[in-house]
Amino acid sequence: MVSSRRKLLWQLYASYLGLTLLGLILVAYYVLEAYRDVSESDREQALLIRARLVVPALSGPLDAARQKSIESLIRQLAQQTDTRLTLIMPDGRVYADSHADAAHVENHGDRPEVRAALRGEIGRSARFSSTVKQDRIYVAIPLRREGRIVAVVRASMTVSDVNQLVRALVGKLTVAGIVILLVSAFAGWFVFIRIRRPLDQVREGAERFARGDLRHRIEPPDLNEVAVLADTMNEMAHELQSRIELVTRQKDELETVLSSMVEGVLLIDINERIVRCNEAAALWLGDERAKFEGRFLQEAIRDSQMTSFVARVLEQPRLQEEIVTVNRDGEKHLQVHGARLQEPSGKTRGALVVMHDISNLKRLEQVRRDFVANVSHELKTPITTIKGFVETLLDGALDDREAAQRFLQIIMRHTDRLTTIIEDLLSLSRIEQGEEAGSIEKRAVRVESVLTNAVSYCRARAEEKEMSVQVACAEGLELVANPEMLEQAVVNLIDNAIKYSHHGDTVHVGGALEAGDVVVTVRDHGRGIDARHLPRLFERFYRVDKARSRAEGGTGLGLAIVKHIVQAHSGRVSVQSRAGSGTLFTIRIPSGSSAS
Ligand code: ADP
Repeated sequence: MVSSRRKLLWQLYASYLGLTLLGLILVAYYVLEAYRDVSESDREQALLIRARLVVPALSGPLDAARQKSIESLIRQLAQQTDTRLTLIMPDGRVYADSHADAAHVENHGDRPEVRAALRGEIGRSARFSSTVKQDRIYVAIPLRREGRIVAVVRASMTVSDVNQLVRALVGKLTVAGIVILLVSAFAGWFVFIRIRRPLDQVREGAERFARGDLRHRIEPPDLNEVAVLADTMNEMAHELQSRIELVTRQKDELETVLSSMVEGVLLIDINERIVRCNEAAALWLGDERAKFEGRFLQEAIRDSQMTSFVARVLEQPRLQEEIVTVNRDGEKHLQVHGARLQEPSGKTRGALVVMHDISNLKRLEQVRRDFVANVSHELKTPITTIKGFVETLLDGALDDREAAQRFLQIIMRHTDRLTTIIEDLLSLSRIEQGEEAGSIEKRAVRVESVLTNAVSYCRARAEEKEMSVQVACAEGLELVANPEMLEQAVVNLIDNAIKYSHHGDTVHVGGALEAGDVVVTVRDHGRGIDARHLPRLFERFYRVDKARSRAEGGTGLGLAIVKHIVQAHSGRVSVQSRAGSGTLFTIRIPSGSSAS
């Protein structure tokens, strides 16, 4: 582009010089032609006068006898006027010639000027004379006697001096032309430079704009037309810059909004190409954001449910909704809303898809369903048993006193079990409610007294199995907590330790301060727990061995209660165990846990 602009200027300059040269040549040509014309017509006029002057001297007959005398007369006249004079007979024969011997001169009847004169006109001609070997002009007039043309008088003279003058003139005109051409070239060059410099300035500015340097301003050149162009370009750059800034700002804002959205957003064009995808969507769909944007939906998201949903959104005018399950690092349930995007003309532009992660909701729903099923199941067994024995009693067993007493004891045991389950469920719900409402009362408590209280609560059960429970607590260890709840948690752990240990074993209960946390441990050397059960151990009603747990009077809620009590104190509970080699439960609560 740059080079073609340069070329254009050079072309203009070259044409300007060419036109000047052409003009000069044309002027010179016309001047020379005019000069030649004027000179020739002057000479013709002079020749005509001379030919006419000769006519009166030619009185008398033109016969052979007078030929010599007329010839000498003609030579004399020719010499005096520096003219060649020829007298030609109507048949073309030369009667007398001032510059040649008439006897040897060829017939002149075919000469154009002679022919014209023989027709009674004034004949004129300019040509090369083969007789005298020169460029000459000729004028011939008829010589009449009694109205008849008896001869033609022809006068001629050379034009070589005219040619010489013309040549001299050509020389002078060439010099003048060169001078004019040089002056024009200099003037043109000056104008060329005057135009080129500002144009270059504007070009450089335009190049900087093109490179994105829109803050640059072109210095307006002193050439008005180019200055207007520079001003317009500066305005254009300014306008462009503010528009780019506006667009960038809007893009940044949109980017911030999209990135900080909890919802996943996908913007798809009519060809199902992903135009935009925010972080949340990319995370759920399983890759980096950059890997989605610009790619076709089909190749970026290999999920048939999602792709067919988008296809439906692009077809349907109404808002679409669906729950899509994607499988990336575990199952994820996404509630997806999709709307078709339309241009004002009604043409479909693409689709906007917004995703909400409802996996938690789904999970909670599942937990609630499981819980209801578990509770029903747990309650059903004792109730069915009670009902069975009551029916047996009513059917007549009441009369058998011994059997009746045995049956009533069984009924009593199952009623106790129902009470335990309901008490556990109630305390679990109380802890949860208190935890949610933040209404659990806490105060500074001595950890040692919590531990010893819990141990004494379990003493009777331990003694039943001839087990001992030993407490080792750091002196003066204190904690902001709800003492009853904390005691219940430790009781549950000690109770389990006793339940799942062998006769005569020892259970160790410890209290210590570690990295600002109060750490309570309950260790036993009982049957331990297989590693595959550990992740679900704190779930409600989760039991490793259902029958044994029931036989021991367990409800499967003990550890769930521990977990919620610890959570209500902003702490964590963990378990370490191996089948056959005992279990260690660790409660870790920040010692400064705030009192409410
Ligand atoms: P349960 O009332 O059945 O004891 P928990 O919630 O207290 O219910 O305990 C859940 C399950 O964890 C128990 O069924 C038992 O299998 C296992 N468990 C808990 N503590 C111990 C332990 N100290 N040793 C071995 N297994 C244990």
